Amino acid sequence: MKVFFKDLIINTQKRRELIDITLEAAKALSDSKVIDGICVINSTHTTSSIIINENESGLKEDIINKIMQDFPQDGSWRHNKIDNNADAHLAGAYLNSSVTIPIKNGGLILGAWQSILFLELDGPRIGRKLIIEIMGI
Ligand code: ZN
Repeated sequence: MKVFFKDLIINTQKRRELIDITLEAAKALSDSKVIDGICVINSTHTTSSIIINENESGLKEDIINKIMQDFPQDGSWRHNKIDNNADAHLAGAYLNSSVTIPIKNGGLILGAWQSILFLELDGPRIGRKLIIEIMGI
């Protein structure tokens, strides 16, 4: 069995933003030479998330707007007394920090409308670090 790691570094432009990383994951899989196995992508941050969903501009705005409704930045959060980003931590705590995708015949198994999206919750940031781990044969 092979185990392959790749760091994926992302610079974000906005406070809240969805960035498609599907092509980067496919490139890592290609580099790994794994044919059948699993791919795990993990964010190393407490104010971000990784989700799998459709990369459609209206839907991406809907997702961001829903997060802003559910986790308002001006809420009376205790963490804001020491670091003014409690809303980002809260959204991060309720969403995924990693995704797992099956690999078959050298490809990621994703549905026709599924993309892998990095969700920035407290940007803009330089050097967001994601770990791509690919395991298999
Ligand atoms: Zn904080």
